[in-house]
Amino acid sequence: MEDKRLEENRQLRERLDKLLNEARRNEQTQNSFDNFALSIVAAQGPAELFHLLLEYEKSFRVDEIRLCLVDRYHEVERLLTENYQNDYPGLSFIDTETSRQHIFDLPDYPILGTRIISQYDWLINADGNNHYQSAALLPLKRGNKVIGMQLLLSKDASRYDKSDGTAFLHKLAAMTAISIENCINHQRILDMGYHDGLTNAYNRRYFDERLKHEVDRCVRNKTDLVCLFIDVDFFKKVNDTHGHQVGDAVLVRLVTLMQELVRSSDIVARYGGEEFTIILPDTGIQLAREVAERIRSQVAKQALIIDDDTLSITVSIGLASLSQIKIQNTDNKNKSLQINTDGLDQQLLSRADEALYQAKHTGRNQVVIKKMLN
Ligand code: GH3
Ligand code: MG
Ligand code: MG
Repeated sequence: MEDKRLEENRQLRERLDKLLNEARRNEQTQNSFDNFALSIVAAQGPAELFHLLLEYEKSFRVDEIRLCLVDRYHEVERLLTENYQNDYPGLSFIDTETSRQHIFDLPDYPILGTRIISQYDWLINADGNNHYQSAALLPLKRGNKVIGMQLLLSKDASRYDKSDGTAFLHKLAAMTAISIENCINHQRILDMGYHDGLTNAYNRRYFDERLKHEVDRCVRNKTDLVCLFIDVDFFKKVNDTHGHQVGDAVLVRLVTLMQELVRSSDIVARYGGEEFTIILPDTGIQLAREVAERIRSQVAKQALIIDDDTLSITVSIGLASLSQIKIQNTDNKNKSLQINTDGLDQQLLSRADEALYQAKHTGRNQVVIKKMLN
């Protein structure tokens, strides 16, 4: 009798220990989820958010993560990746036209198992899908709107079993969707403050920030960078002869033309009035001269027909390159000292401005390179 009670007690204690261990494990999972959810909600900008969302393999015991966002109006990708040329491996975009079925087929709740790998192979790198044995597909929704999907891939067939519960992943998907939507909205607001209302070129605020960023980056990567300063010749006369509205339309046309003549990674900005700046990162002075010359000649060649007015305009362009600037605070005797890039952007800009001044005072409708002291 005594023995039986002891045995029952032992078994009870064993079950209790098991339950306690399970509760502890659940608490740990819950804590790590809470911490993760807090960090994605508090992420400062897309770089931090997508780093968190795409690189948490270890904490969630998965081998690879894919994220795909719905880009209805072809603006989300630009908003998240264009500024500062961010690039996130593992992140892709689909639109509602070409990928209607993928969006339509998306389940309401997370789904787990092995079949997902072949079902969603379009989301996985061509060479990667045969390594994975199980996966979880998380629909990312806000209300009824599908904003994307996330795929968690594992080489372990038992990691995501079809019969496992999905409550935790459902919560994770909800937090992820909220964080992404917040991030996109925040980028939209920033984007509005970075563009000029008339021409939709970048504005001076953006240009100043971006020039500093690109100068730092090009110094770090030991590549060259060129800054163009462009001013419309006798623009006051255009306004006086054809009216302010025609003048406005000329500025809009000019921006479109300049954007067409440079790479999509170059930055065209309205510096103020009828003055524009272009940053050509990773570009040497000879190539930049050709680009500037192409802009100058195309502007001069194209007669603009605006309403009933036919007019032609010309531009003067000043150029300055980073490699021509004497890099400040560099100890020539000790080249290994870190280069100080403070003020380099402003120096570059004022040199391009001086070159423009020279172009204006030696005939206009020309490209002038301001030579730098070495
Ligand atoms: P220069 O060849 O020396 O550059 O001569 P300019 O007439 O272009 O130079 P100036 O600086 O004397 O005149 C610039 C003109 O640009 C005056 C200003 O009214 C006009 N302007 C500035 N911003 C706008 C704008 O947004 N729309 C229109 N239509 N005109 C503008
Ligand atoms: Mg002018
Ligand atoms: Mg001017």
